[in-house]
Amino acid sequence: MSKKRLLIIEDEVDVLDMLELRLVKERFEVLKAANGETGLQKAVSEEPDLILLDLMLPLLPGLDVLKSLRANLPTANTPVLILSARGEESDIIVGLELGADDYVVKPFGMSVLVARINALLRRTASSEEDAANFLRLGAVEIDVDRFQAFVDGSPITLTKTEFRILYALATSKGRVLTRNQLIDKAIGADAMVTDRTIDVHLTSLRTKLGTARDVIETVRGIGYRFNARSTQQN
Ligand code: CA
Repeated sequence: MSKKRLLIIEDEVDVLDMLELRLVKERFEVLKAANGETGLQKAVSEEPDLILLDLMLPLLPGLDVLKSLRANLPTANTPVLILSARGEESDIIVGLELGADDYVVKPFGMSVLVARINALLRRTASSEEDAANFLRLGAVEIDVDRFQAFVDGSPITLTKTEFRILYALATSKGRVLTRNQLIDKAIGADAMVTDRTIDVHLTSLRTKLGTARDVIETVRGIGYRFNARSTQQN
């Protein structure tokens, strides 16, 4: 198997070098950029397998880099993991809505970062299976054609919106969805709804999931995530 290539866009030299040292040890090939402009150029010319993107960057801020990455064909689908400072929750939300795949908050443990990178690379590799009409995720099963969800094999009765929320979370493969993204996917971007509306649907959905309620994880200050591991026995 060939080495996966990571591009790190980060202006703090200490952090950049530390990341490189550790990720090379994990058998990744590492490309580096110390500002947003160089980072964007390298991303487009080198086409890395995954990009680690700091948000506070000189020349071109991280969120602008992300916007351009998503608009450029070679990098439109490249997984992007945001490296964020504490207290930048609103930037994380914007980042996720611009198409970032995941984030870690500094200071982060290297083992956490490596696990997130590997999870993202695996997720990308298996994204061809997205179109399945029947999903089985731990104790939860979703029959897309019949608009029917099951917990431990028993059908549960969901409203259309609850079903769409469950489906949106279940098919995002462990990625955090912000409330706005859930509104887009489950209710429609034009609808007049608030964050609170989504929370009400989520509460009701969790109640109906019963013993499997923990598959929907609240990510404080950001949104929600599906975590099938919380129900898997194996
Ligand atoms: Ca920075």
